[in-house]
Amino acid sequence: MYRQRERREKKGFDRPPREMHKAVCADCKKECEVPFKPSGDRPVYCGECYQKHRPPRRGRY
Ligand SMILES: [Zn+2]
Repeated sequence: MYRQRERREKKGFDRPPREMHKAVCADCKKECEVPFKPSGDRPVYCGECYQKHRPPRRGRY
């Protein structure tokens, strides 16, 4: 007898739901959610501030 696994496990990795973690933006101190676990030794930025802190794209490189 075959016992089929009825467990519905993730079939493939189409779109794994992102686990959001609450964090406080290191810049504006707003509460925000980030798709990664804030480790504590790195500042966490909300979406807006993240853009600000990102190095701007320049023409070169
Ligand atoms: Zn912010």
